Amino acid sequence: MSDWVPPRPKHGLRPRMDVVIVGAGIVGLTTARAIASARPELRVALLEKEPVIARHQTGSNSGVIHSGIYYKPGSLKARLTVQGKEELQRYCAERGVPFDLCGKVVVAVRPEELAQLDMLAKRAEDNGVAAERISLEELHELEPYAAGLGALRVRSTGIVDYPVLCDWLADDLLAADHEIRLDTAVTGIAEEADQVVVATHGDYVHARVVINCGGLHSDRVANLSPGSHTDIRIMPFRGEYYSLVPARRHLVNNLIYPVPDARFPFLGVHFTRMIKGGVECGPNAVPALAREGYSWRDVDLGDLKEIVGARSSRILARNYWRTGLGEIHRSLSKKAFVKALQALVPDVRDEDLIRTGAGVRAQAIGPDGALLDDFAFAETARQIHVVNAPSPAATASFAIGRIIADKALDRLR
Ligand SMILES: Cc1cc2nc3c(=O)[nH]c(=O)nc-3n(C[C@H](O)[C@H](O)[C@H](O)COP(=O)(O)OP(=O)(O)OC[C@H]3O[C@@H](n4cnc5c(N)ncnc54)[C@H](O)[C@@H]3O)c2cc1C
Repeated sequence: MSDWVPPRPKHGLRPRMDVVIVGAGIVGLTTARAIASARPELRVALLEKEPVIARHQTGSNSGVIHSGIYYKPGSLKARLTVQGKEELQRYCAERGVPFDLCGKVVVAVRPEELAQLDMLAKRAEDNGVAAERISLEELHELEPYAAGLGALRVRSTGIVDYPVLCDWLADDLLAADHEIRLDTAVTGIAEEADQVVVATHGDYVHARVVINCGGLHSDRVANLSPGSHTDIRIMPFRGEYYSLVPARRHLVNNLIYPVPDARFPFLGVHFTRMIKGGVECGPNAVPALAREGYSWRDVDLGDLKEIVGARSSRILARNYWRTGLGEIHRSLSKKAFVKALQALVPDVRDEDLIRTGAGVRAQAIGPDGALLDDFAFAETARQIHVVNAPSPAATASFAIGRIIADKALDRLR
């Protein structure tokens, strides 16, 4: 989470904007940046319901700059991750935002995973990302405590602090006289022929184009205006983390990942060195009981009713109940979580780990209960809704922002 506070505005709320963006996470901020860079004369306002920017997914992610090895060739995820990563690194280098292209290893721990590792290497090649199969000797040179039967090395993976990056993006926008309004929840959207009226608590803003980057609430924001714009629903999946105690951080040099289960958009619990220091372990993927459900205690009856009541979540539960139960078990039992980590680094012990935080992923599901894999948008004449921007959308954000900006600028021509 960022502790960035906007400087006092030079003027009151401007009632008429060219573009209003809902949500000041990294996708909202990079979108604003892309529009402001392409057409500096346009007036852009970001409306954020929280008192700080980057509070939700952006503020509680793993801080990894993904390389793009996992995603289906030709998909938006595959393309925009590779492009966005380059742009993000360029921006960080220009602004002096710390990042480190430390590389990662993906480790096969079961014989049947060796073939999957080869498939992953092929997929990386198809996506234009360099990834090399390495010997166990090479693995142990990179990660002396990792166990495995085979490994893939990806040199271009990196780490960064996304909230720090967002602070820079926000400062740039304000310096160019755009607006970021905190504590401003968007509660209504009405599209007219020549404008969109955006309601917040007790106020209205008129815009020529509205862009929804509402993350965990993006489906709700999309459906605020009369005439539903999407049948995609957001399903919140919490990712919980442990941290290695300082005396045991030597067990991990950089990033150690398992071979992912190809049926899911999640990568499996792994070890991540953080740019600000420390090593995080996780995240798992448990169904959350609230859209902003950061622990089992966070229950929102409205959210829960919606999740349980929807046919799509019932289909999802029916299809994946076994995996779901395994994840819930690993959430409730530290021993089970540690066991999953020990598959990668056998020397990790229960007492080496302290529970740190959690993030909640906004994972879209279709009406048929399928987990939506690719980034997705829903559009009207004057509205653009980002309805699926899960991992690696932070890595890809600069490229996602440019695509959305192109859509917005087309409408403003
Ligand atoms: C546990 C976890 C680990 C991850 N790890 C990585 C990683 O290592 N690398 C990577 O690339 N990606 C990672 N991701 C994914 C990445 O963090 C997200 O894809 C990305 O942050 C999405 O950004 P966003 O701006 O769309 O959403 P968010 O950051 O969630 O921002 C949405 C914003 O919209 C605001 N909002 C919602 N509704 C309203 C409303 N009605 N009015 C006003 N404001 C509203 C919210 O308050 C919020 O600030 C991870 C995600 C999680 C949860």
